[in-house]
Amino acid sequence: MTENHIFGPVNSRRLGRSLGIDLLPFKTCSYDCVYCECGATNSLTTKRAEFFPTEEVIAQLDKVLRKGPTLDYITFAGSGEPTLSLSIGRIIRHLKTTYSQYKVAVLTNGSLLGNKEVIADLSRADLVIPTLTSTSQETFERIHRPYPGLLTKTIINYILEFRKEFRGEMWLEIFLIPNQNTSLEELASLRDVIDKIQPARIQLNTLDRPAAEDWVTAPDEEELIKIRNYFAELNIPVDVAGVCCEQPDVCISGESTHELIKKTLHIRPCTVEDLASMTGLHHHEVAKYLSGLLEEGTIHVQRGKRGVFYSAGPQTERK
Ligand code: SF4
Repeated sequence: MTENHIFGPVNSRRLGRSLGIDLLPFKTCSYDCVYCECGATNSLTTKRAEFFPTEEVIAQLDKVLRKGPTLDYITFAGSGEPTLSLSIGRIIRHLKTTYSQYKVAVLTNGSLLGNKEVIADLSRADLVIPTLTSTSQETFERIHRPYPGLLTKTIINYILEFRKEFRGEMWLEIFLIPNQNTSLEELASLRDVIDKIQPARIQLNTLDRPAAEDWVTAPDEEELIKIRNYFAELNIPVDVAGVCCEQPDVCISGESTHELIKKTLHIRPCTVEDLASMTGLHHHEVAKYLSGLLEEGTIHVQRGKRGVFYSAGPQTERK
């Protein structure tokens, strides 16, 4: 069976109404972050590959985009680190040539931004958002559990160089975990580096869904506001990732709602409210789909900060 690579549109916390492209087998990444909402990394790698035929992804995209959906972004994200895919450059070029009305965003952990082919592949994207959590190797390893040999200071240099070369917009995501990277020492060092990088925006991100490790929490509102104000002293706009409240419309990707929900839950856990907002369905209707999937045994239930989450895939994928 052909794998579906397109998901959404979803109302993403960071980019508004976003159509997702997933180029990776679940779950392939150069990190195994303790906060990852997809669960544990099965394939920890820095080796790039064409994981799926590029033509297959382009055909699926064309099917969706020919209908002219309303979108804020088309976003490369999903089951791991998107720059690991050798297809990404060709797909971005196809999007910018054939559907230039849409903005293309890439969410990346930044670990491959020193690779010349990756830099060339991303050159036509409108927006690239690398992640930074710490300048300390010890904290970096504790949070990201990276592929052996990856160094935070090298990745910071990659981001600095990429910022100079890239013609599109670069924002920086800072993922905050209390008692890991929220001490004054950690934040002061991060702020110095951000000042050198000069991203167009800083996005403070926090845990919103069940994480790979259940000890991971989110800062409380008071702490988050203090951190936001601290970074805002750099005179760079600082966003705190929030739920986007745009009007949803019904799935336009041509797949059944059942399939859309299943695919979304494979990529990330969602509450009934998340799914209702994404599909435009009433909560009761979403609940009916979910009970069908629970009966099939294709999804399971987890508890998170925002309530009950539904997730696809075996529970053992989460450590
Ligand atoms: S959060 Fe991103 S970088 Fe970290 S393991 Fe998950 S997909 Fe990889």
